[in-house]
Amino acid sequence: MTEKTMTIPVDIQTVFDVQTAGVTGRRRTFGLPERKDALSRLSDVIKKNEAAIIAALAQDFGKPETETILTEILPVLQEIKHARRHLRRWMRPARVGLTLAAFGTSAHVRPEARGVCLIIAPWNYPFSLALGPLVSCLAAGNSAIIKPSEMTPATSALIARLMADAFPPDLVRVVEGAVQTSEALLALPFDHIFFTGSPAVGKIVMAAAAKTLASITLELGGKSPTIIGPDANLKHAADWIVFGKFSNAGQTCIAPDHLFVHASIKEKFTGLLRERMAISYGNKVSSANLAQVVNTHHADRLGRLLADATMKGARVIHGGDHDGTRFAPTLIEAITPEMDIGHEEIFGPILPIMAYDDLSDVIAQINARPKPLSMYIFDKDRSRIDRIINETSSGSVGINLTLIQFIHNGLPFGGVNNSGLGNAHGRYGFRAFSHERAVMRNQLSALPLVFAPYTTSVKRLIGIVKRVLG
Ligand code: NAD
Repeated sequence: MTEKTMTIPVDIQTVFDVQTAGVTGRRRTFGLPERKDALSRLSDVIKKNEAAIIAALAQDFGKPETETILTEILPVLQEIKHARRHLRRWMRPARVGLTLAAFGTSAHVRPEARGVCLIIAPWNYPFSLALGPLVSCLAAGNSAIIKPSEMTPATSALIARLMADAFPPDLVRVVEGAVQTSEALLALPFDHIFFTGSPAVGKIVMAAAAKTLASITLELGGKSPTIIGPDANLKHAADWIVFGKFSNAGQTCIAPDHLFVHASIKEKFTGLLRERMAISYGNKVSSANLAQVVNTHHADRLGRLLADATMKGARVIHGGDHDGTRFAPTLIEAITPEMDIGHEEIFGPILPIMAYDDLSDVIAQINARPKPLSMYIFDKDRSRIDRIINETSSGSVGINLTLIQFIHNGLPFGGVNNSGLGNAHGRYGFRAFSHERAVMRNQLSALPLVFAPYTTSVKRLIGIVKRVLG
């Protein structure tokens, strides 16, 4: 079977060629000072353009200024600060202890730049999910081509301008465009591809990477379940869940997707959720504290999810109104698995609540679905919390909190199977963009004693070695 070869647009090929040529020179010279300098330039350009970043996100989906500062700008600046502080240690070759089999040698692991990397970003945190990975990419000594999301055009154009201001083309360049642009980029032999987006497109990226055997990091999505136990501090849980679900209008990969609430506290807890929603967002479809849905395509998708659920017997108990891309924070109950909302990632301000009596049923339901990106547990009972963690799998777990595991630089951020492959953030991000090269030096290895010809004395010696090592 002959495969169709893709014609790469000249501008994309040129950017790639410039970076490939640049990597050869940089391999020798891009040491700690140069990497730290690149990170400082990134930090400076972000700080200088804070107002423009806030304006671009407001233009793209009405994101409130405070949310832009908290969830788009600060995480990137914090990532830069952390990387600059620890980079010397991360870059240091790690000595490896002696083993009996390798007696007479010394060994170390050298983190090396992978080369030219591709970063493909989604629209939901269009600034931080394009530039957060760039921090790790530069810290690890690579160059990058960034493809921001076409769904947030103002932020995409701004990122392109800022990167052109801050970096030479052989270090960082932005290629703007939609699916075709992404496909053309994916046909090039990158050294590493860092993709953030949906599991469906993640599979396309993985298949494309297989053609060039590029290494990949996939930061994907899914339905993150949240369990509220009978002994949870309900007021605290309601505050955190409303924050986690409705910030960014629910368009957050690690937002609580749906709630399992113990039947004994469901009514009280629902009341507290509604109270908190009213305090944070009012009871209107539009609020200065609430971002909009990114476009009418996604607003219509959410409208359809809601209509499908109510048609099949679900009840809206709070909100439910929408007008164009404005969608009121919504609570819905009586969900069943046959409803689309029961199995599709919601990715918007609709929160289904399901009551449970037996924790085993909840665990069985979670395990029957693809492994989620995150899971949240609100409870005071340690044994119940441990049981849930031990009997399920997810990229991360938050206990009595939501979302903020994302901003802990010491934690890996990533999914598992359907929710992702590999990790981002801090040292984990540095490692994702590094090749860990094994280096072993012979000092006085005794191995030549067992080289061929395999005489009787060699065989005797191997027998002794086998007894000692086996
Ligand atoms: P998406 O997968 O539709 O798009 C992501 C990027 O891929 C965009 O830049 C887009 O242009 C490109 N793309 C789209 N279709 C493509 C194709 N056929 N071939 C090549 N490239 C293609 O995702 P999205 O809608 O932008 O973002 C929402 C999804 O991302 C949700 O599933 C969410 O959970 C997930 N997400 C995950 C994380 C994480 O860190 N794990 C963070 C944010 C969002």
